[in-house]
Amino acid sequence: MIPFNKPYMTGRELHYISQAHASGHLSGDGPFTKRCNAWLEQRTGANKALLTHSCTAALEMAALLLDLAPGDEVIMPSFTFVSTANAFVLRGAVPVFVDIRADTLNIDETLIEAAITPRTKAICVVHYAGVGCEMDAIMDIAARHDLPVIEDAAQGILSTYKRKPLGSIGQLAALSFHETKNVISGEGGALLLNDERFVERAEILREKGTNRSKFFRGQIDKYTWVDVGSSYLPSEILAAFLAAQLEHADEITERRLALWNTYHAAFADLEAQGRVRRPIIPAHSTHNAHMYYLLLRDLAARTDFIARLREAGVGAVFHYIPLHSSPAGRKYGRTASPMPVTDDVSERLVRLPLWVGLEDQQRHVIDTARQALHEIRA
Ligand SMILES: *Cc1c(COP(=O)(O)O)cnc(C)c1O
Repeated sequence: MIPFNKPYMTGRELHYISQAHASGHLSGDGPFTKRCNAWLEQRTGANKALLTHSCTAALEMAALLLDLAPGDEVIMPSFTFVSTANAFVLRGAVPVFVDIRADTLNIDETLIEAAITPRTKAICVVHYAGVGCEMDAIMDIAARHDLPVIEDAAQGILSTYKRKPLGSIGQLAALSFHETKNVISGEGGALLLNDERFVERAEILREKGTNRSKFFRGQIDKYTWVDVGSSYLPSEILAAFLAAQLEHADEITERRLALWNTYHAAFADLEAQGRVRRPIIPAHSTHNAHMYYLLLRDLAARTDFIARLREAGVGAVFHYIPLHSSPAGRKYGRTASPMPVTDDVSERLVRLPLWVGLEDQQRHVIDTARQALHEIRA
């Protein structure tokens, strides 16, 4: 069986973990965490990067930093992972879902302004498949309404929008190092802070509401409870693993792009014949090959396609059940306008295996997929 995902190990993960082990510093914010934070700041241009134990945690920190209260509204896409909404729902805020663009499957920026109400407190965008949202238009709307923008850049490490790294554009951004992402630590994430005004408080929220980070830097002589907070920092064991991955992040991206480009070329003729639609990358974006997906004719064709691939030993999967039609989404959120593209795409999208090391078996995936696309009822 060719699995849908297989985590790639770069080679030095256990070596760095053994260094953390030998040093005896196992809790958070030790040398490996600092190394990861510095790498992220350098490569994203973010003012400050704080490692967290997940992207979900980073989004929860963003919701705390914005002081969201029950009834406040956050505008976001429905075609996304649950954490985008959950982080805000935990604070009592209401996700207000808007539809996505038919090309990139990112939030449709032309629908955002009409979704703004007096209760709107933030706009949370998701860079789907590591391809940037239309950030110029989004930042312009946000500035005119004095709203902060949070980038859910869980899938977006090392991608750019108009030469700017994803995660460096909104006031706040969240990255993921979950095992299914490009650069991994099993579970893991980071909060990127591009607005200086949030930095001091973010350190406090992440350290159980204490000013312990300042204490460790020698800026105060004792630390104490100063604000709400929780424990959002990963242990050094996890940061050691991540440090080994970050050293190879460019190589990982290059190898994923080679696989992505091979898929893209292999399905060009089938797209020309109208059998399938391939991903669309805007000219002003570079992407990190987080995902290769195809859009099939309809739900029946997708179901048939996935079954044929499984029979041939290829793991292909679909996502997302739109948040606006899921049980919790209906309970906690609302739609701002009709969702035709989200509803349509969520029934037709299928993701092909894409992981470093697939090179030897990619031909089999392509041959199987091409044959299936020919055999599915015309
Ligand atoms: C993976 C993902 C998350 C959650 O990341 P975790 O690190 O698992 O918490 C959030 N949003 C999007 C868009 C994702 O793809």
